[in-house]
Amino acid sequence: MDTGCTLAALAGVDQSDPEAVQALLQTCIGTLLDPVLWWWALALTIVCAVVGALIGRMKGRWLAGLLWGVLLGPIGWIVIALSTPVAQGCPECGQPNAASAASCRHCGVDLRSAAQRSQRSRLKRDDWASRRRD
Ligand SMILES: [Zn+2]
Repeated sequence: MDTGCTLAALAGVDQSDPEAVQALLQTCIGTLLDPVLWWWALALTIVCAVVGALIGRMKGRWLAGLLWGVLLGPIGWIVIALSTPVAQGCPECGQPNAASAASCRHCGVDLRSAAQRSQRSRLKRDDWASRRRD
């Protein structure tokens, strides 16, 4: 007789024998509570979350990507990949621009290089500008 928790074992169990049914039930509960199974489920969930967050980051929505990845896995990746990107705010004038915009449509600053500039270098530049005015 098959002792594993399989459909064949379930079909072959003698239902008039309570001990055989009980033994199969114990085997199946043991399989479901196996820590290896739960570690795999946890690892897969983390992988889905990280991939979803990375896809969401490209759209400016990493948290939404993480949640979609956790909830739906690869289907969630598709959902976030097809979502509309969040508008990016200009670091100079604060006005919203399309996420794919290379430069601000309000003040014309290069958004890609402005995003890479550090807060410290911005403060330095403002300091130089104020010294020139004095
Ligand atoms: Zn601007």
